[in-house]
Amino acid sequence: MAELYIRTDMTDLPDARGYFGEFGGRFVPETIMPALDELERAYAEAIADPQFHAELSHLQRTYTGRPTPITYARRLSEALGGAQVYLKREDLAHTGAHKINNALGQGLLAKRMGKRRIIAETGAGQHGVGTATAMALLGLECHVYMGSVDIRRQQPNVFRMKLLGAEVIPVESGSRTLKDAINEAMRDWVTNVETTFYLLGSALGPHPYPMMVRDFQSVIGVEAREQIQAQTGQLPDACIACVGGGSNAIGLFHAFRDDDATELIGVEAGGRGIESKEHAARFADLDISRPGILHGTRSYVMQDDDGQIMETHSISAGLDYPSVGPEHAHLRRLERAYYTLATDEEALEAFQVLSKLEGIIPALESAHAVAEAIKRAPTMPRDSVLLVNLSGRGDKDLDTVINTLGDL
Ligand SMILES: *Cc1c(COP(=O)(O)O)cnc(C)c1O
Repeated sequence: MAELYIRTDMTDLPDARGYFGEFGGRFVPETIMPALDELERAYAEAIADPQFHAELSHLQRTYTGRPTPITYARRLSEALGGAQVYLKREDLAHTGAHKINNALGQGLLAKRMGKRRIIAETGAGQHGVGTATAMALLGLECHVYMGSVDIRRQQPNVFRMKLLGAEVIPVESGSRTLKDAINEAMRDWVTNVETTFYLLGSALGPHPYPMMVRDFQSVIGVEAREQIQAQTGQLPDACIACVGGGSNAIGLFHAFRDDDATELIGVEAGGRGIESKEHAARFADLDISRPGILHGTRSYVMQDDDGQIMETHSISAGLDYPSVGPEHAHLRRLERAYYTLATDEEALEAFQVLSKLEGIIPALESAHAVAEAIKRAPTMPRDSVLLVNLSGRGDKDLDTVINTLGDL
């Protein structure tokens, strides 16, 4: 297995100003600019330092459980009767999802910068739990902003964060959900920038976050590319991943971006269908989604005619966000990656199929990627290979699935 887990040599992007083509950049108040400059410098120094790589890869091996395996989904492939489906098992990473890869990377960076106070924001609580976990390990102080509506909906994750020693700060402004929590975290950062590190959870936000989060998640693709060749003797015909903010997808795609014969396919949340307008398919519904600025970066944003951010819907909390990482907007513009969607219903079906045929209960987010494999595999020859990123495990989603299937 490659010793360098952070791939920074696959692309020149973003440029010096943080742009991926016309997307990305840094749209923040003046007061945050120096903090972003400091972060950018510290990150550049860290990844030039073999000691930093060594420390991170040591934690990945001995704490996260990396490399995560790839699993041949034999019964699923036979049932579909076309391409052979392989799963990259991020569900087997400690805490049950890929988010820990980024939380550990940024946590080590914070420590190196001498910042011992970590802030984060969370919607469903997955990023909060990943961050609280990494901060417990590293011995850093952790404060997580969370909308009070989300706190009520996500009690088990709130309890987990507290157990892990984090403070959960309720946000009572606006709709009291994720976007209000992000605003509060930003406000905190402006006020306490000297002592505080803002740990962002997806390939989003102002430069250098989209680049940094991509790099910390690139371990997924670096491992998978080597593993799939070892197991099948070939590169995959396509890589498939779900896209919320886009971190697990860009982490998988990154290592394959120069493999022109490998298609890169991102799957967004189709919710109750495009016509319903209750979805988070930022690339599919161009009536209500267009380039704009949200949370410090320029990308596709779901907005009404007046530029007001729209409410989104997905059965999976992790995909329920009105914007998408700027590098995905760029890869789509280049036609290097292709984006499609799976509805709530398709994801629920895939959730059950994978559980029954492979003994793997996927996260509802990951089930969106599985749903695309289920659509695509039967149209492909039997000697072709689909690599699906299983971004997380589904234990956290059992209540949602029980309630929804109960309704049907
Ligand atoms: C948070 C989450 C996602 C979505 O986030 P990305 O940044 O798009 O990867 C996907 N899967 C799981 C299991 C998650 O927890």
